[in-house]
Amino acid sequence: MNDNNQSSTSYSPPLREGQGGESALRAILFDMDGVLFDSMPGHAYAWAKVMTAYGLPMREEDAFENEGRTGIGTISIFTQRYWGRDATEAEAQELYRRKTIVFNDYQAANGGEAPEMPGAADVLNKVRAHGLMRVLVTGSAQQSLLTRLEKHYPGHFVPQLMVTGDDVRYGKPNPEPYLMALKKAGITADEALVVENAPLGVRAAVAAGIRTIAVNTGPLDPQLLLDEGASWLFPSMQALADSLDELLAQV
Ligand code: CA
Repeated sequence: MNDNNQSSTSYSPPLREGQGGESALRAILFDMDGVLFDSMPGHAYAWAKVMTAYGLPMREEDAFENEGRTGIGTISIFTQRYWGRDATEAEAQELYRRKTIVFNDYQAANGGEAPEMPGAADVLNKVRAHGLMRVLVTGSAQQSLLTRLEKHYPGHFVPQLMVTGDDVRYGKPNPEPYLMALKKAGITADEALVVENAPLGVRAAVAAGIRTIAVNTGPLDPQLLLDEGASWLFPSMQALADSLDELLAQV
């Protein structure tokens, strides 16, 4: 995999001004993998290894392109392609269980756990300083990662304001997780912004009617994030942190 984020696409925040309007901003909705934790290289490795072992050829790049889907959603993309049908619940559970084992082994061999995404703590602290709620919206159902939120970002997230892979039926790119997050937070789409790193995550947030900040922390062409409707694009969470006060003043 290539961790170099540079490309010919210019990062020029903001790409277009927020809509402003009547509603004051009340919350920022955060994706987790690739936004708060630099966990995507491990996930991509594990997906490619386990799926290919089951006769479902998958490249690490495919994992980045499908990032954000639930486990069963990702698995069914490939069983449809190669077996002509959705995965059964039992197949999906077994594949996802093995993928989790390989992911944990990968992390154990690479420093023990996925590191914090550089700049994420700065973003969260600025969001809190502005008096805004932090809401987690992730397709991941891994308890180990959820538990780690409190360890790495203490005081920022509470269980009542989390939507995980266990809560949703469809998952991203369906708007369901983000609509559920708005409901849990008791706010409207106009009162929130989303921070996402994956094209399908941006698609889900935009489909929920929420203005979306894309951070391109992986190897994908950043144009993919703009094509899905992101309102702002940054090359890293640190770049977002550095511009966040200015961005929030505009919306
Ligand atoms: Ca993500």
